[in-house]
Amino acid sequence: MSMKGLVPMGGPPPGGDPALGPMVVTERELSARVADLGAAIGSDYAGRPPLLIGVLKGAFMFMSDLAKTIPLPVEFDFMAVSSYGSATRTSGVVRIVKDLDLDLSGRHVLVVEDIVDSGLTLSYLSRNLLARGPASLEVCALLVKEGLQRTPLDLRYVGFTIPPEFVVGYGLDLDERYRNLPFICTYVGPEASSP
Ligand code: 5GP
Repeated sequence: MSMKGLVPMGGPPPGGDPALGPMVVTERELSARVADLGAAIGSDYAGRPPLLIGVLKGAFMFMSDLAKTIPLPVEFDFMAVSSYGSATRTSGVVRIVKDLDLDLSGRHVLVVEDIVDSGLTLSYLSRNLLARGPASLEVCALLVKEGLQRTPLDLRYVGFTIPPEFVVGYGLDLDERYRNLPFICTYVGPEASSP
């Protein structure tokens, strides 16, 4: 597994929104780490370009930046899943809202995920995708929350391991807001402590 150490939380993010807590990953750290991941993927997949599967909506920004740093003729497809639960907690019950357009049989599939929390979403997705007969299936997750996984996961590429806080930005939302922040910070607004 390619992985970076636990990220210490920084100072307040710019902008003055009181619902936004400490900075977790800065724009500069994101672009440096994404470039590292792209280079690693480029060398690991030399001669067998992967089909990148982005998990919408959270992974769209990461997938776009990552793909630009992979020096291979990659292809793309997208899936949208919704997990039942409150705004800030996953229940582990996953529904496919938009399925893939492409056939996975014989393909080298690399799933691009925004964040792994309990791991239940990814575990469901991996089982679902493996059943479609890919030649290989690996996962590239931008963020993994420290110590929360309730299911063993094989994560080939990890951007950052972060503290177990609810975070927003760089594709990640709270009720569709904050996805366009160019950095990742904690969310400390009213929904942050809902069950
Ligand atoms: P898991 O099934 O691993 O518990 O949760 C994975 C999904 O829950 C992610 O793909 C994401 O949609 C959502 N999620 C988990 N933690 C966070 C978080 O800190 N912030 C945001 N915005 N979404 C999260």
